[in-house]
Amino acid sequence: MTVRVRFAPSPTGFVHIGSLRTALYNYLFAKKHGGRYVLRIEDTDQTRYVEGAIEGMLRAMAWAGVNHDEGAVLENGELVQKGEYGPYIQSERLDIYQKYIQQLIEGGHAYYCFCSKERLEEVREQQKTMGLTPKYDGHCRKYTLEEAKEKIAQGESYVIRLKLPENKDIQFMDVVRGNVTVNTNDMDDQVLMKSDGFPTYHFAVVVDDHLMGITHVIRGEEWLISTPKHVYLYEVFGWKVPQFVHLPNILNAERKKLSKRHGDVAVEDFMRKGYLPEALVNYIALVGWSPEDNQEIFSMDELIEKFSLDRVSKSGGVFDTDKLNWINGHY
Ligand code: GLU
Ligand code: ZN
Repeated sequence: MTVRVRFAPSPTGFVHIGSLRTALYNYLFAKKHGGRYVLRIEDTDQTRYVEGAIEGMLRAMAWAGVNHDEGAVLENGELVQKGEYGPYIQSERLDIYQKYIQQLIEGGHAYYCFCSKERLEEVREQQKTMGLTPKYDGHCRKYTLEEAKEKIAQGESYVIRLKLPENKDIQFMDVVRGNVTVNTNDMDDQVLMKSDGFPTYHFAVVVDDHLMGITHVIRGEEWLISTPKHVYLYEVFGWKVPQFVHLPNILNAERKKLSKRHGDVAVEDFMRKGYLPEALVNYIALVGWSPEDNQEIFSMDELIEKFSLDRVSKSGGVFDTDKLNWINGHY
């Protein structure tokens, strides 16, 4: 089996150093195992799209030396795509998602939902006052496919939702977290297709990871709670479930998730301030992963040689500027 991994950023602004670390771990893992590292642009949320963010991200990755084998690249300032699994930009894959959503609808695993924002809000408020965790009440499951198509023909706006079975345990193994089990009764009929014809992240990520032959999904731990939905989709399609690796958050000195409020967190900040890319990469590799010995200064080749997923820590790694500066001084 050839290892295939991916980094799948959304072009919503600057590149958080947590994203650099995710990209780096994917890169190191691919290089170590003679695999392929894919870069996919997840731009299905049109409301969050920031002009120039794709180019900025590609420049930051090139600066850091975290180079992908497939995906979008800048050539003389132009965005081009390289690789046989493309397009690698999700907004250019809409016909692919259409094909697979139809498959789910025909198989009875997804349904059209015509609920207005107001109705959904009302249901949510009611559930909250009853002390329940808000979730979609399945109102539109009652329409037959013919009824739904009739409504669509009349111009009604709709989304497409996942039709979860009742009381089914969804299980998967996370390389960092171990076994995870979630019951479908505690899950929501997730929206898979939005009213603008774009897929949601949850649908696009599964379709693309499958079609792009991804063997290991290495990403931030904020996606761990979404993974049962993804695993269920893999099962419904009859696709092989990849290995999941959820990386712990990068924390500030108070052990809170590191954010823009805590100073420099954008790779662009470090680029501007004249840090050496080797130093930032070296430092960020050690936030959440530790080598077997006490070595602290690494070249990229040494990182590739030493990197292993089983030494990724379960708890968050603390970002320490002093340590970064110390490493920066050693190059
Ligand atoms: N587009 C997601 C993000 O921006 C990627 C999540 C994933 O890797 O599955 O974080
Ligand atoms: Zn509905």
